[in-house]
Amino acid sequence: MTSTRQSPEFRNDITVLYEQWQEYRSDIKLVEGLGNYEPVTIVEKDGVGEKGKPAYYPTKYEEQVINAIDTYGINSVVSDLIALNRSIPDTRNDECQHWHYPQRLPNTSVIIVFHNEALSVLMRTFHTVIFRTPEHLLHEIILIDDFSDIENLKDELENKIYGDTYYNKVKIFRNKKREGLIRSKINGVLKATGEVVAFLDAHCEVNVNWLPPLLTPIVKDHRTMTVPFVDGIDFNTFEYTPVYGKDALPKGIFEWGMFYKEKGLTKYELQNRKHYSEPYYSPTHAGGLFAINRQYFIKLGIYDPGLLIWGGENFELSFKIWQCGGSIQWVPCSRVGHIYRAARYSFADITDNIVAPIDQYNYKRVIEVWFDDKYKEFFYTREPLTRFIDVGDLSSQIELKSNLNCKNFDWYMENIASDVLTQYPYPPKNLYWGEIKTASTGLCLDILNGDLPRKIGVRECHKMGGSQLFRLNTKGQLSNGERCIEIINNTPHIDFCQIGKVNGAWRYDFEDKQFYEQRTDKCLTLEVPSDNLIFEECDDRNPFQIWEFNQLNPWV
Ligand code: UDP
Ligand code: MN
Repeated sequence: MTSTRQSPEFRNDITVLYEQWQEYRSDIKLVEGLGNYEPVTIVEKDGVGEKGKPAYYPTKYEEQVINAIDTYGINSVVSDLIALNRSIPDTRNDECQHWHYPQRLPNTSVIIVFHNEALSVLMRTFHTVIFRTPEHLLHEIILIDDFSDIENLKDELENKIYGDTYYNKVKIFRNKKREGLIRSKINGVLKATGEVVAFLDAHCEVNVNWLPPLLTPIVKDHRTMTVPFVDGIDFNTFEYTPVYGKDALPKGIFEWGMFYKEKGLTKYELQNRKHYSEPYYSPTHAGGLFAINRQYFIKLGIYDPGLLIWGGENFELSFKIWQCGGSIQWVPCSRVGHIYRAARYSFADITDNIVAPIDQYNYKRVIEVWFDDKYKEFFYTREPLTRFIDVGDLSSQIELKSNLNCKNFDWYMENIASDVLTQYPYPPKNLYWGEIKTASTGLCLDILNGDLPRKIGVRECHKMGGSQLFRLNTKGQLSNGERCIEIINNTPHIDFCQIGKVNGAWRYDFEDKQFYEQRTDKCLTLEVPSDNLIFEECDDRNPFQIWEFNQLNPWV
């Protein structure tokens, strides 16, 4: 290697950002002793759930526990047994104790939106914020009740908050109707008066010294949004464990159906880091937990108020931050525990008469504003039914993008998110897509339920897409969503598509209507009367090898 210059393809905007960040590193210091915002002592008590250990409940509560998990997706009976200020393990890298952050940091409004959360779980969330945040940095805690109908979240919650001076920074506002988490967060931002707003789900526990490292990059550049590392809290035992290994440096990305994904840093990014625990840039974020300058967030239009209930807002915010001149940094020294619930509540009754799935509706609103035409096609290829969804008026969002002089998606892909393609390459066009119906018995190919990989089967055709929506692309990959049909033990199985792969061995001929697999040289065959799918020598007179590939539109 003789060249001293970087190859031109590396001179993208992220390179420039990393150079600036390098300069900035000189004013936050790693020191010998404890960092300036580190608590001097951390009390480690014994008791139920202390030290983040799993907690168990007496068997006499069995029935209540079943009810609790049914209502909240969380074992609130166990939560009630655990102290609000229980001790939890410090999951940070050891280095994190030794950072000096700027003396002057912005004051912060912590915003927590909730709908029908368990009272003690919600209370523990804001209790830990007061407990583990330097007083002068905590401006207020704003609770937005998204039209909960559980009794103890009304008077009992208010009595607890307003009857205890420990909670005198907590303010509660209630939506007059169910708005969903996106509009509830918008409401929270409009109520807040702190310089920075930080968001938490209503089932979190913040960890030691979580806030100063989130605020520091925002001080350097007010257009930076910062994201803590999420730890896991078990929904049943409340055991507190890190989600990521000690050395993991994940960043948020997406695949072309707009599922949120993560991947490690690139070699280039790793080389440009001096310390394990310093922040780094990320193309997207998961959504629930982050901090951002309030005025800047408002300038960005907060979230598109046309998004429904839940989902996709993390991408909207990520794309608009990057495309309109800001950046996203993930912060390894900021840790927040989050309960991953057992079940998700149904949104069926609150979707303003939208018949399509709300996440797909939201994704389409987001990509129609922020993607260029070329990239929109990738989304529609991966989710063909979304082409038919009417997502309403987008003119105010498009106007915002133009008023803020935002860059296009090509710029974002080339400069900020190019390594998404190593995991999720552009999907080749679909040759065929729709339901796959056997000519013999009229049933439809169905991926069924259960763990992956698993056998696929046939079911009554339901014409709703989902488990019966298949795509065969021009490179021979046969898939359902982000899963692919592969041959395992000579039987067709469904499994996650291999990362980085968009090709396969399938061929379908609209004339002879057979599914031919090139590696095995065999055809997809329905076995009767078992209704199992098997793999047999191709024979175009075999009616159990004849399949129709029919397009669908469930939303008409
Ligand atoms: N939430 C809300 N209204 C809704 C749905 C959710 O206020 O219609 C709140 C919920 O109580 C939680 C936050 O929004 O505090 C994020 O929702 P959730 O935890 O279900 O999202 P997940 O963590 O599963 O992505
Ligand atoms: Mn959550």
